This record gives sequence, structure tokens and C-alpha cells, in this order.
Amino acid sequence: PFEKSKGQHILKNPMLVETIVQKSGIKPTDVVLEIGPGTGNLTKKLLEVAKSVVAVELDPRMVLELNRRFQGTPHSTRLKVIQGDVLKCELPYFDICVANIPYQISSPLTFKLLAHRPAFRCAVIMFQREFAMRLVANPGDNLYCRLSVNTQLLARVSHLLKVGRNNFRPPPKVDSSVVRIEPRRPLPPVSFKEWDGLVRLCFNRKNKTLGSIFRQKSLLSLLEKNYKTLQALQISQKGPMVEDKVSSEDVAVLADMVEDLSMGTNDEKDDEEMDVEDMDVAGGAGEGSSFKDKVLGVLKQGDFAEKRAAKLTQVDFLYLLSLFNKAGIHFS
Ligand code: SAM
Repeated sequence: PFEKSKGQHILKNPMLVETIVQKSGIKPTDVVLEIGPGTGNLTKKLLEVAKSVVAVELDPRMVLELNRRFQGTPHSTRLKVIQGDVLKCELPYFDICVANIPYQISSPLTFKLLAHRPAFRCAVIMFQREFAMRLVANPGDNLYCRLSVNTQLLARVSHLLKVGRNNFRPPPKVDSSVVRIEPRRPLPPVSFKEWDGLVRLCFNRKNKTLGSIFRQKSLLSLLEKNYKTLQALQISQKGPMVEDKVSSEDVAVLADMVEDLSMGTNDEKDDEEMDVEDMDVAGGAGEGSSFKDKVLGVLKQGDFAEKRAAKLTQVDFLYLLSLFNKAGIHFS
């Protein structure tokens, strides 16, 4: 009766369901969003502790079974089941999300939740083990990747619980992990599109130095085209381009962060400034110098040329992006 294509693996271990609910920290005033309630094993426990539960389920047969299970119980008025694809439907208000999801929607679902407003307090979600480890990976870890960096820009993530495949019926082919995701408030002051543009380039070859990545002809010509378009726009608009969705308060926070960083690297500061000056002179004071020099100059300025994406922190990426932006170079 269970459909593989819908990722239907039912939690059959009541102790595990209990643990997940406990670790979610649900308050009696919370509205909980559950994704893929299936037959309702988790839903039942959620209803016992939350103010109400909204559950989104794709499979109409499961929706029927769920409604039947809670019909006539004291819980039924506090449960709302929405039949549909969670990736396509508009999400209702919720304080906390708790879910044992079909693994094929892990990535789009994570970002759909993180884009939802008003932001929720936290999400406690079962993922395939490797996906979970990517979410929580730190710089230098094997699984540190674009997903880690992008998720951690928007949220704090922590690994809560390892879950073996035999806790499900039918057992999936992979082990799982429960992860907690807490949206950051306030969000770091960057345009997410632009952030992702930079991170994507850097992680395309995550073990290469940034110096070698940004020397690629195809990449440089793409960036230069973007650069020229933006400059043309800026001139025609007679004003500086302003980042979308970034308040001046947020920009101030970023400025502080960058200040701290440059103070930390003062050993080499003098040398760097000399190099940048030399380059300007050699290249004919800015205007005449090539776009490639401009890009490599930015990397040099922040001491990034020999670094690799695999080891860069959130703060490193923010600083790198701010240096590029200051030089008029954008990634979206
Ligand atoms: N929560 C239940 C449990 O823990 O026993 C079932 C979890 S099962 C891994 C995933 C559930 O999500 C299935 O009931 C499946 O029908 C449903 N589902 C699959 N794709 C979905 C989607 N795009 N939107 C909403 N629900 C979906």
C-alpha cells in the first residue's frame, strides 16, 4: 500500500516519535506545521502538545486515513489537513515545523521553509543521513558544500539524532538523521541571489584555489559582461546601485564585521597595500587596467587568492562578496 515514489516510509518506533517531539521544544501555544503526515503516528503526538497542527499531505488516501484516525477524538478540531504538494502550496502561519519528509524534496523544501514569512521559530526535520551531514558541515569537513554555506547563511543548523533505517516501514535504503533548523534573526545583510552566485562559482571546484577559479576565461568574461551592464545601468540611473532588500542598518552590521576582519590581518596589511598600488600604476590607474587584474586585485586585497572554498567560513564569504561589490563586481 505504500508508494515508493512518494517516499512513504512510516515511522514505526513510538519511542523515536516521542523523542523527536520532545526535542522539538513545542509550547502549548504553538501552531505546528507537519509535512507528509502519512498515517499520523507523529501527528498524534504533536496534537498532544501543540495548540494546533496543520498537516500537508500529497496522497489523498493518506489524507482520508488521517481524517478517519482523528475523527471524533478531542484532537480533531485542532488538526487541519491540507491535501497537496507542499512545494506547490502556500504555507500557512506556523511557529514550528516537525516532519518526517520524503527525501526527494529535501533541498527545495528546506529553502521554501527558510523563505517563508513570518519566519518560524524552528524546524525539526528527518533527512537522509548524508543530506543532514551536508546541512551541518563546517569548513574543512568532507561534506562542506554550497548547501552547507547557503543554509547556514540563513539559519543555525544542528544535528539532533541519528536514526537507523529499521525504524521505518518499509525500511528505506539509507540511514537518516534528525536536524534542527533555526532561522537567523536578523538575516545577514546580503542579497541571497548574489551570495549564491558567488558561492556557486567557488564551490564548482571547491578544492581549487580561488586564484585559479577566477582566472578562468569563461568565468571572467561572464563577470565582465555583468559588470559592464551594471555600470551602464548605474550611469543611466545617475546613482549608485542599491542592493535589494538590504536596509542601511544591515549594511552597518556588515561594515563592522569587515572592519574586524581587516584588523585581524594587519601583519600583512602594508605589503598588500603596496601591491595594489603597484598594480594600479602598472595598469594605468584603474580605468585602463584589465578586468582580470581588477578581479585578481580583489582576491589579493582580502588575501583570498591561495584559499579554497572547502575551508572558507561564512564570514570569509561575506567579506569576499563585500570586496567584490565595492569594486563594482556582482554575481546575480
Ligand atoms: N510522517 C509519517 C511518518 O513519520 O510515519 C510519514 C512519513 S513518509 C517518509 C512521507 C510522507 O510524505 C508520505 O505520507 C507521502 O505521501 C508524503 N508526501 C510525499 N511527497 C509529498 C509532497 N510533495 N507534499 C506533501 N506530502 C508529500
